[in-house]
Amino acid sequence: MNRHNSRPVVLCLSGHDPSGGAGLQADIEALLAQGCHAAPAVTALTVQDTVNVSDFRVLDRDWVLAQARAIIADLPVAAVKLGMLGSVQMVDTVVEIMQALPGVPLVCDPVLRAGGGGSLGKDDVGYAMRERLLPIAAVATPNLPEARILAELPEGTADECAAKLSAYCQHLLITGGHGDEAEVHNRLYVRGGDCHTFTCARLPGSYHGSGCTLASTLAGRLALGEEVVSAVRSALDYTWRTLRDAEQPGHGQFVPRRLPLDFCS
Ligand code: PLP
Repeated sequence: MNRHNSRPVVLCLSGHDPSGGAGLQADIEALLAQGCHAAPAVTALTVQDTVNVSDFRVLDRDWVLAQARAIIADLPVAAVKLGMLGSVQMVDTVVEIMQALPGVPLVCDPVLRAGGGGSLGKDDVGYAMRERLLPIAAVATPNLPEARILAELPEGTADECAAKLSAYCQHLLITGGHGDEAEVHNRLYVRGGDCHTFTCARLPGSYHGSGCTLASTLAGRLALGEEVVSAVRSALDYTWRTLRDAEQPGHGQFVPRRLPLDFCS
């Protein structure tokens, strides 16, 4: 086994979605597609299908710490991706984990709702992420509804939310898939003033796991050494293609196709 030939390792602290559309499975597939190795540590279990989520259970803090410590002691973690945390205590647990990874880029997807609208955490979890995780994140990737919760601006535009949230983090990527513009506008706000807008064609349908796909791809790109703005562009392009090629395995939302069909051949 040659460690020098190993792909960059991305520690994923996310929930498990048994439909396979979102959560850790999305992270693993997206990271494989970037040429990275995913180290998936479970923060929460959910009961859900492709339509919606009906229940979830956040793991004990000690279990999550133990998983992360085992990985950190063994593997050279090159980036960390956060998905569903589910509780304020889990936010604090992640802060503790990140203290053991100084300088490692963190991508924070502030997951609070499933695609079908069901809750994956109370708004307090979002406020704790804003206060304690956004300041240590390289990039935060809320969609517009999540940005509105974090900014406490229920009707806010992306610019209005960013005006409030940019104070908390270095790079804030507010995705526009939930907006009403004809084209999707994804806006990357850099603390200090710059805003990069990435537009793409709006695809029909609604998707399960698009945010997870984007955030984990972005973490993978950072792990590979790409600069933030370029990594965001790469991650948005890849995610768009996974949505264009999405499939509908169940009765609900479409699931992004993150790996080519001939992946194993
Ligand atoms: N993480 C978990 C465990 C989930 O179940 C979900 C949605 O159901 C998400 C994250 C967020 O999914 P999306 O990428 O669709 O926002």
